[in-house]
Amino acid sequence: MRKLNSIVIAGASLAGLRAFQALRREGFDGTITLVGAEKHLPYNRPPLSKSMLRGDDEVTLPGAEELGDRWLKGRHAVRLDTSARRLILDDGSEIPYDGLVIATGASPRRLPDAPEGVYTLRTIEDSLALRAELAAGPSDVVVIGGGFIGGEVASTARALGLGVTLVDASPYPMHNVLGTETARWLAGHHRDNGVELVSETRVTGFEGNGRVTGVRLSDGRTLPADLVIAGIGVVPNTDWLDGSGLTMNDGVVCDERLFASGAQDVVAAGDVARWPHSLYGGTLVRVEHWSNANDQGAAAALNLLAGPENAKPFADLPAFATHMHGARVQIAGLPHLADESRVVTGDPAEGRFAVAFAKDGTLVGAVAVNAPKDLIRIKRAIAAGDHLDALA
Ligand SMILES: Cc1cc2nc3c(=O)[nH]c(=O)nc-3n(C[C@H](O)[C@H](O)[C@H](O)COP(=O)(O)OP(=O)(O)OC[C@H]3O[C@@H](n4cnc5c(N)ncnc54)[C@H](O)[C@@H]3O)c2cc1C
Repeated sequence: MRKLNSIVIAGASLAGLRAFQALRREGFDGTITLVGAEKHLPYNRPPLSKSMLRGDDEVTLPGAEELGDRWLKGRHAVRLDTSARRLILDDGSEIPYDGLVIATGASPRRLPDAPEGVYTLRTIEDSLALRAELAAGPSDVVVIGGGFIGGEVASTARALGLGVTLVDASPYPMHNVLGTETARWLAGHHRDNGVELVSETRVTGFEGNGRVTGVRLSDGRTLPADLVIAGIGVVPNTDWLDGSGLTMNDGVVCDERLFASGAQDVVAAGDVARWPHSLYGGTLVRVEHWSNANDQGAAAALNLLAGPENAKPFADLPAFATHMHGARVQIAGLPHLADESRVVTGDPAEGRFAVAFAKDGTLVGAVAVNAPKDLIRIKRAIAAGDHLDALA
């Protein structure tokens, strides 16, 4: 192991925490400084759009208690000087480093001129505020964006007995992510569970003086709304890296071992990192999933300790799961890279099926609905580089 005396971790959430733990586990005995913009101990975000909205406050991230109060909370890194190896914080203080882990994650994309009553969902505060709104029993909930956050919120709001309209720009919600078969099933699943679906339509603005009263659509209609949740994707938190010399392209661009391009001894992990995935011929990917941040935080920190010559490529298969209206939807690999897809188990009409995705015949991804065992089988085949036709 080479000698680094001080490591700074920017971003104290899942990837940052896992980096911290990996350094300690590996026996790193130098200084670790963790800087986090939030005031809470690192917590789990997946419950924020699920159980927390239904009243369950449990968001503990195992291992977060190891930090105690030995970290800088409520502090933003505002600038990075890679030549002097210093991180500059919002209170003007400077933290020198020998090695840096960037784990500043991502923030929700926001619609312009949103009045009161229009929410995004990323933090505990967002979830608690939204929970209070849902509990007040709004009559017209509009969800903008049918991705996993929008879909989960729509599902929760329906479970609470509220009227929900879901507006989505694509033909079927999550079409780009799930492929046509599953996205079409998902549209039906939303409708079967009482969600009013407005597809291939964009939101152009809001009605309401102070508080939202309506959502204007690209087809000229206005939907009545007294609560709106926008789940229209995220942008990586890289503003503070402007001028640092690091290469940016929708995230911090890294090499396959997670070392950031443009400076030495800087690694990135989690929602903020973009790196060439060796399973996919070196395609640059940025993965916004829990398991990626969980594993990559540790991997990036260990690579930083090992140094570029001894570091290992990060090539874990992306994996994600969500629940909507009681159905379990799982995704593995990168289905959006495919030029071909096939239902390999079950039948969408029965609500239990798995779809395999291939590019040039080689498996690149899988989607399973209420079929976890089938997903495991296809995941193994993807990792082995198998052909679509080899799947029984
Ligand atoms: C509501 C919700 C539900 C989700 N559900 C699922 C799910 O079911 N399954 C799944 O796989 N994934 C899910 N995810 C995604 C998953 O939570 C993320 O992939 C994961 O949190 C990424 O971790 P991260 O540490 O990379 O980034 P983040 O969790 O975004 O953390 C980054 C941290 O850095 C801080 N920060 C940002 N800028 C600075 C700065 N300049 N200085 C200091 N600190 C800074 C931020 O405040 C934040 O605390 C969900 C996400 C949300 C929001």
